[in-house]
Amino acid sequence: MSDCIFCKIAMKEIPAKVVYEDEHILAFHDIQPAAPSHVLVIPKEHIPSMAQLEEHHKVLIGHIHLAIQDIAVKLGIHETGYRIVNNCGEQGGQTVHHLHFHLLGGRHMQWPPG
Ligand code: AMP
Ligand code: ZN
Repeated sequence: MSDCIFCKIAMKEIPAKVVYEDEHILAFHDIQPAAPSHVLVIPKEHIPSMAQLEEHHKVLIGHIHLAIQDIAVKLGIHETGYRIVNNCGEQGGQTVHHLHFHLLGGRHMQWPPG
């Protein structure tokens, strides 16, 4: 998607502070951190949101979550705990329409979320 900011980050057309990368996914620091540690994990493939996931994405989604485990270790939040958030659609609060998982840590999280 030529006008997608996260596709541009995945293609290195826009800079980002990358914390993890492999053939299928990329993780980088959120530009407006909502916690001391706030990383976004995205597939390199343009998938607009969770609502567009298809059967063949099963492995990719599992891969993202296993990578999040490693990223949490790298960020030093694996023992204190963390939250994984996916905002889907308008009422879910999604603003960037390229699938991404927020990994948040370094402070106590509130419940219920806003
Ligand atoms: P969401 O509201 O769930 O769609 O989350 C989008 C997130 O992307 C927000 O937390 C933004 O701060 C973050 N964001 C937007 N543009 C950039 C960027 N260029 N680099 C890093 N994070 C970004
Ligand atoms: Zn995209």
